Amino acid sequence: MEKDCIFCQIAHGRTDTEILTETDTLVVFKDINPHAPVHLLFVPKKHIRSINDLTSADQEILSELIMVARDMAKEHGVSKSGYKLLYNVEKGGGQLVFHLHLHLIGGWH
Ligand code: AMP
Ligand code: ZN
Repeated sequence: MEKDCIFCQIAHGRTDTEILTETDTLVVFKDINPHAPVHLLFVPKKHIRSINDLTSADQEILSELIMVARDMAKEHGVSKSGYKLLYNVEKGGGQLVFHLHLHLIGGWH
């Protein structure tokens, strides 16, 4: 855990952010500035800066992020209508919080 990292603080229960789902590996919460009716963030408890910093030891984290996102898409009723899963990578890729996270965006009509 990095003490100056907002997503570390959220993932370790140090804020009042509502956690929608938690596993041993990750937490899920709503994006504070949603870009769509459904905008969730899937955040590993381990501090990893970005996709660039993943190692082969992190493969289970990555697959769990996607599998839990798939489940939460269903729970939020966007499985059939469709959704985007997105990683922003580093500044040029639009990354603002330098703790790896997967965006789930959907729910447009
Ligand atoms: P990114 O541009 O991929 O780094 O996305 C970071 C996302 O985190 C943005 O969509 C922000 O709105 C969101 N965000 C930042 N701080 C918080 C917070 N405290 N709670 C929920 N979402 C946040
Ligand atoms: Zn962090």
